[in-house]
Amino acid sequence: MADHAPTYQADCPFCRIAAGEIPVEVVFQDEAVVLFNDINSKAPTHVLAIPRRHLASASELTDADADLLAALFRAMRRVADEAGLKGYRILTNVGLEAGQSVFHLHFHLLGGRPMAWPPG
Ligand code: AMP
Ligand code: ZN
Repeated sequence: MADHAPTYQADCPFCRIAAGEIPVEVVFQDEAVVLFNDINSKAPTHVLAIPRRHLASASELTDADADLLAALFRAMRRVADEAGLKGYRILTNVGLEAGQSVFHLHFHLLGGRPMAWPPG
């Protein structure tokens, strides 16, 4: 589908991960999404879910991305279920002030320990 078509930006680390140019521990992938372990894990389970197509953040999502979002959340649920998580948190940082450091859309899937609220 057109909205799943991969794009590639050579200066984007997550485009490079999606292209297999930077080794990561992949836990799930299909034609639209890649899920891999965060290199700086903040919980026993800390997985990043990215679209293969480059989007800088959730602020660039449009109605045309409905299938892509469904694919990301379906994959995160699958990984959470396979890990046997009793509960988990899904979050995405949008912009520098929110703590975004990689400007390719990604969702953090965190679990395996109690979560505090609100996040810092
Ligand atoms: P954020 O701060 O929300 O943009 O999250 C970026 C996340 O990407 C951080 O949790 C980093 O630890 C993670 N990260 C950056 N580079 C890599 C990499 N090469 N492999 C795995 N995780 C990465
Ligand atoms: Zn990218």
